[in-house]
Amino acid sequence: MHVDKTKCVGCGNCVAVCPMGAIYIGDDSLAEVNQEECVECQACYKGMSTENLPQQPTRFLRNLLAFFKLRFQPDPDICPSGAITRDELLWPRKVRRVFSDPQMPHESTGIGGRGTMEVKTNDVTGRIREGEGGLTVEFGRPGVGVYFRDVDKVCQALANTSVEFQLENPVTALMSDVKTGQLQTDILNEKVLSCILEFKIDIEKISEILKVIEDEVRQLDTVVALGLAIRCDSKGDDAVRSQLEELGFDAWRAKVNMGLGRPTNPTPAREEAIL
Ligand code: SF4
Ligand code: SF4
Repeated sequence: MHVDKTKCVGCGNCVAVCPMGAIYIGDDSLAEVNQEECVECQACYKGMSTENLPQQPTRFLRNLLAFFKLRFQPDPDICPSGAITRDELLWPRKVRRVFSDPQMPHESTGIGGRGTMEVKTNDVTGRIREGEGGLTVEFGRPGVGVYFRDVDKVCQALANTSVEFQLENPVTALMSDVKTGQLQTDILNEKVLSCILEFKIDIEKISEILKVIEDEVRQLDTVVALGLAIRCDSKGDDAVRSQLEELGFDAWRAKVNMGLGRPTNPTPAREEAIL
């Protein structure tokens, strides 16, 4: 994304719209996009309408009003002159938009947003069985973003444990080798709004896995949220939450899947898991 300086009138509306703080007003009193920080989320382009006002008369009016201590200020969701301009994105920069624009479908899954159905679909997929856990590591939210070089470190550390990366996941799709967890080298310096790594674990090994994640994440320049999906017992109880609290994690039961979905493509193993 960039600002067309021949159109910008320097109203500053776009500065507050950018979730990454990538837009600023430069020394020339016009808006500028920090290309390193911009994750191509399109919030400025799609979230603001325009009145297509001509730059010169509008700037003149703004300066004139400012002289009399008055302000010309368009509504906050308007770029008055249509100066925000979308760039054609090539690989690897394109990956920024894929992970940051919720309306952009992932090529790996065909699903918009962060491109994962996540563990909440378990009642139809039957992927996580008793004794197993579906762990998600969400990087970068809210408002911090993450470089893939940081995600790569966590992926590689986890690959040395017993985790099973979820194959229908956009981060896994970017691994050059799922066994080592290594991401493609050409995307490592790309920054995205957020991404979610998903994998299955043996629930008995949860403290070991969490320790690996914690050790890696402490060295990263981003924020991380963990999610864990497990199957409750017939009374709706689970043994893991108290275990997590003992390990020092705040644990909330955030989403409860009632298991009312109809299993898709049931295999004998899935049927057994779902029953
Ligand atoms: S595309 Fe997103 S990150 Fe880039 S400048 Fe616009 S709002 Fe900011
Ligand atoms: S909203 Fe439009 S006119 Fe105002 S500073 Fe941003 S790019 Fe310039």
